[in-house]
Amino acid sequence: MSNVVLEKVSRVFGDFVAVDGVDLRVSEGEFVTLLGPSGCGKTTTLRMVAGLEQNTGGRISIGNEVVSDAGRGLFVPSERRRLGMVFQSYAIWPHMTVFENVAYPLRVRRKSTAEIGDLVGKALRLVEMESFAERPAPALSGGQQQRVAIARALVFEPKVLLLDEPLSNLDAKLRLQMGDEFRSIQKRLGMTSLYVTHDQAEAMALSDRVVVMDRGRIQQIGAPEEIYRYPANRVVAAFFGTPNLLEASVEACARIDDRRVRLDVVGKGWRGACESASEIRPGQAVTVMVRPEDARIAPPDAAHRDHELRWSGQIAHTIFRGPTRSVVVQTGDGRLNVDAPSFGDFAVGDNVTVVVPQTSAWAVPEQASIAS
Ligand code: ATP
Repeated sequence: MSNVVLEKVSRVFGDFVAVDGVDLRVSEGEFVTLLGPSGCGKTTTLRMVAGLEQNTGGRISIGNEVVSDAGRGLFVPSERRRLGMVFQSYAIWPHMTVFENVAYPLRVRRKSTAEIGDLVGKALRLVEMESFAERPAPALSGGQQQRVAIARALVFEPKVLLLDEPLSNLDAKLRLQMGDEFRSIQKRLGMTSLYVTHDQAEAMALSDRVVVMDRGRIQQIGAPEEIYRYPANRVVAAFFGTPNLLEASVEACARIDDRRVRLDVVGKGWRGACESASEIRPGQAVTVMVRPEDARIAPPDAAHRDHELRWSGQIAHTIFRGPTRSVVVQTGDGRLNVDAPSFGDFAVGDNVTVVVPQTSAWAVPEQASIAS
């Protein structure tokens, strides 16, 4: 069953289209993340589900209820949507204790004192903040405050939890820890969650599915691994990690199975084969994505093996990154980044060959249309 359904949802501000025909189904218990660069429309989309913003086109349903339908002028206000919300700016109230902060949504809903005691205790146990119940909110660390905000969002057992960059005020280490904790709470409770972030690492680590948005439109929807490995277009490819993106032209195309084709391509000073999702006609331009972790450095005279792509070049510089070393190789087709072992034997100026298995090279059409 789909718990949150968006059908052709749009939001126009004046003549600016911030969200453009978004179709999305979030299943019960699923953790779905809206990801994309600043201004792509992810917050506006979340706010429309929250009922804090009204969609100018399309329809939104939560559970079995249509909560907003632009065509019929139907709009259920936020407080009647039974949603838990954790927003970046939605800080906890400083003049209240932890207990009172978490109890607030229950007091608004006029629950009995016994029930409030019970439910607040349960919510604080979930985020491991029970022993802090009587603390004034300002006497908490950033991470603890965020846990209280999560407990407050969960306390009235909402149908759906909406989160907008809830970890962005925390330092990098705490962000990782809180993300893991939140994900385990969400799984334990089977809570349907719609999450917004511009941080691709966070999106990949937390989500069942990721929705990549750009300029108000969905570019791709899929499991994190699928999007990382098989981006639908150049925008998505460029947004995840720091792939090498090479222009090439297709010479031949042959189907491998129902989801992949093999392309023979020719680039600037190189040729070889790669894989793609779409049948692409000979002569058409593609972008070939090569991830630095899939490439390796070989000697300039390394024997040529089948099913490999190769570029000759010279090491321009290297960057020590702890577990790996980024090696930048100047080739006839621009610079290629390779993740090499940290303590490998690489010197700036060395002539080398960059080698990539053709199954790791993924091509997307140059003018890709919107997928999924
Ligand atoms: P960020 O990561 O920076 O928060 P976002 O992807 O969440 O970005 P939105 O906040 O959804 O982006 O905004 C999408 C676009 O809509 C932006 O160009 C923004 O300027 C515009 N926008 C949002 N709210 C309004 C408004 N009330 N009036 C006019 N334009 C708006």
